[in-house]
Amino acid sequence: MSTVSESGVVDAVNKELFIGGKWTSAAGGKTFAVRDPATGEVLCEVADASPEDGIAALDAAVAAQADWAAYAPRERGEILRRAYDALMARQEELALLMTLEMGKPLAEARGEIAYAAEFFRWFAEEAVRIDGGYATAPNGSGRFLVTKQPVGPSVLITPWNFPMAMGTRKIGPAVAAGCTMVIKPAAQTPLSMLALTQILADAGLPEGVLNVLTTSSAGAVMEPVIRDGRARKLSFTGSTAVGRRLLEQCSDKVLRTSMELGGNAPFIVFEDADLDEAVEGAMQAKMRNIGEACTAANRFYVQRGIADEFARRLTERMSALPIGRGTEDGVVVGPLIDEAAIEKVSELVSDAAQRGAKVLTGGATVDGPGNFYQPTVLTDVPEGARMSDEEIFGPVAPISLFDTEDEAIAKANDTEYGLVSYVFTRELKRALRVCERLDTGMVGLNQGIVSNPAAPFGGVKASGLGREGGTVGIDEFLETKYIAVSL
Ligand code: NAP
Repeated sequence: MSTVSESGVVDAVNKELFIGGKWTSAAGGKTFAVRDPATGEVLCEVADASPEDGIAALDAAVAAQADWAAYAPRERGEILRRAYDALMARQEELALLMTLEMGKPLAEARGEIAYAAEFFRWFAEEAVRIDGGYATAPNGSGRFLVTKQPVGPSVLITPWNFPMAMGTRKIGPAVAAGCTMVIKPAAQTPLSMLALTQILADAGLPEGVLNVLTTSSAGAVMEPVIRDGRARKLSFTGSTAVGRRLLEQCSDKVLRTSMELGGNAPFIVFEDADLDEAVEGAMQAKMRNIGEACTAANRFYVQRGIADEFARRLTERMSALPIGRGTEDGVVVGPLIDEAAIEKVSELVSDAAQRGAKVLTGGATVDGPGNFYQPTVLTDVPEGARMSDEEIFGPVAPISLFDTEDEAIAKANDTEYGLVSYVFTRELKRALRVCERLDTGMVGLNQGIVSNPAAPFGGVKASGLGREGGTVGIDEFLETKYIAVSL
């Protein structure tokens, strides 16, 4: 049990909009409720921004851009570094706040605070490594100067499943690059972002650099901001369906875009895999964040000779997981985010069962209050089952068999998504061959977690455009300028 109080951490958060360096109520004083998904109870009300508030936030970001771009990179980096220290110093209370609004168990929330903070430490270091070039033109007489400049005011939109880390993964590089921002966290989990906003203000982020909009009308508020044209960049993390709509909105004024969208990760286990490692990796890839991760293993393909044993061991592990409110000691499986999530997971499991899949464990909701679903393992999941094509976003592991390497790769790649895949094998040549042939932006080779602030995170196909983190993460917020020099 945590030593900080639940009401205390919620009360400590400023629940207004943050525009031009000031906390301010929404136009008309409107608010909306934030709920605890483990109980359904209202935690608090937060400001409900209107389209006018959206434009006011954009105005503030535009006004601050030129001065912010002129800040010394070292100063920008040190703001991030101070915010990193503050996040880590307050890890416990921020973790509790996140568990209350999102549901994940406290241990995972602590892990997310550390992961989120690490983006700030990483980009504090990257702020002073923005490179350029000086080169001789092929004709020998001219010279090329190449420099990088901030893209400009940027719109950032984040999802509810990682309420802190999806924010720092965008704010970190934007601050390092010298971009001002309008950020809109998910309506279901705005509190982590509001807490982060105060931390950044206390760390010395100048007025107008970060502007924060909480709203229950995402489309109505953000579309005018995106279409306005003064913001030069949209960085979005969320579903592919919303991402597609936002890409259209960006096309008119030709905004730069980074899109971190949905996934449908295959998890492939070959007969020569270390089975203990594969089961451990499966638990991580499936159950991190209650299965509500874009990187969650969505389809398990296991080679015939070890399929029964893999399913037996996975079932044993899954059925032993303690379910409950994330604040309780020992809980590993928290609630799903809302009733719609429970309905979707239930529908996908029924669909697979009707088509002949066998339920080895789970397969049902848990009596309320709260949105709980049992950890579930299915075998003999036939091709055509909806869960082979759609993100499950819940604690359900569907297993199918394969015989040959080619078959496994063909099945794995048979999806419009391409975020991440997982491969378990001890054979070096096969490992590299398969990693190269998988159509995903990332591969977990003999491991079930790929996320790392120092590595380039992102997908191909309908999973997105661009990369976050790593040495390339800052480039998403920089424009390259070439100056042709005559000597
Ligand atoms: P979502 O419904 O697409 O929402 C994401 C964000 O977009 C939220 O802030 C949402 O606001 C906002 N939004 C919704 N409609 C909008 C519109 N018309 N205009 C502007 N903003 C709009 O996704 P989600 O359910 O929150 O998150 C789950 C999805 O995110 C999954 O598909 C998951 O795979 C993906 N995801 C991807 C990554 C990655 O790195 N690739 C990481 C995490 C999650 P409201 O909250 O107000 O609706």
